[in-house]
Amino acid sequence: MSDHIRNTGPMLASPRCGAKTRSGGACRSPAVRGKKRCRMHGGAPGSGAPKANQNARKHGLFTRDAIAERRRIQALLGEARRMLDEMK
Ligand SMILES: [Zn+2]
Repeated sequence: MSDHIRNTGPMLASPRCGAKTRSGGACRSPAVRGKKRCRMHGGAPGSGAPKANQNARKHGLFTRDAIAERRRIQALLGEARRMLDEMK
């Protein structure tokens, strides 16, 4: 038998995939370099959406600006209702 000591430290210290498996635990396969998932869980080259992806936007109803505008309108309506209640 060989007395060679296997140097597996760096391999074992590499970042691991954290994808949830069907048995409920984490995947723990080595993550692809520069990614957080292994090759089988979305880390494969070319997978994933491009940066600043606009494909997910369908109608803009939930953009930051649209939400802020709705909030301003609701605040104004609340104020008007309070004013009307005071005039009663
Ligand atoms: Zn994985």
